[in-house]
Amino acid sequence: MSFLAEPKGYTPGEFADFVEGLAWNGWRPKFVTLHNTAVPTLAAWLDSNHAAKQRIESQRHYERDILHWHSGVHLFVAPNLIWNLCDLTQDGVSVSCWNHRTLGIEMIGDYATEAFDSGAGARVRDNAVAAMAILHRKLGLRPDHYRMGLCGLHFHRECSRDHHDCPGRNVVKADVVARILKEMAALSRAAVPRGADPSTSGESICSG
Ligand SMILES: [Zn+2]
Repeated sequence: MSFLAEPKGYTPGEFADFVEGLAWNGWRPKFVTLHNTAVPTLAAWLDSNHAAKQRIESQRHYERDILHWHSGVHLFVAPNLIWNLCDLTQDGVSVSCWNHRTLGIEMIGDYATEAFDSGAGARVRDNAVAAMAILHRKLGLRPDHYRMGLCGLHFHRECSRDHHDCPGRNVVKADVVARILKEMAALSRAAVPRGADPSTSGESICSG
């Protein structure tokens, strides 16, 4: 069981500090699988009849107590915060084809219909990109050089047996990958001491 006792929300800066302190000694993910919640839509999420935490709590209750999963998605990305639901150092449940190889990240919204390039949708996108850049960098992974089931950023819809068109069509993989790479480069520049050569870090080899 890798559900956290209490979901915890981080700003991108706080999430970077949190991830820096993690160690993947047993299970080690090969790539990230990106999702959108579809339900709730981003509009429903922003319509604050319920507190944000209650919405996350109900998702977790469904996965843990009704579906009886041992784990769920690792992160739940909102316009303001990156929510951690399951232990990032243990495998999760989000995509039947390759749960044992992937970190699962849900973005709040239905990007088949809602905008991903403006307003709150763009803030979800930017927080998801920040989280993925931090995780790729920490784990020595790359979002590009895609090989299905092996490496590179995956979308849930690529697992055809789940019959789940997720995330919606407004999420364009080439754009997301480019944004992650740009953010990884910015993180490297910020971390490299003056005079050091950044070109020697951040490469990884895709292995089965
Ligand atoms: Zn999905």
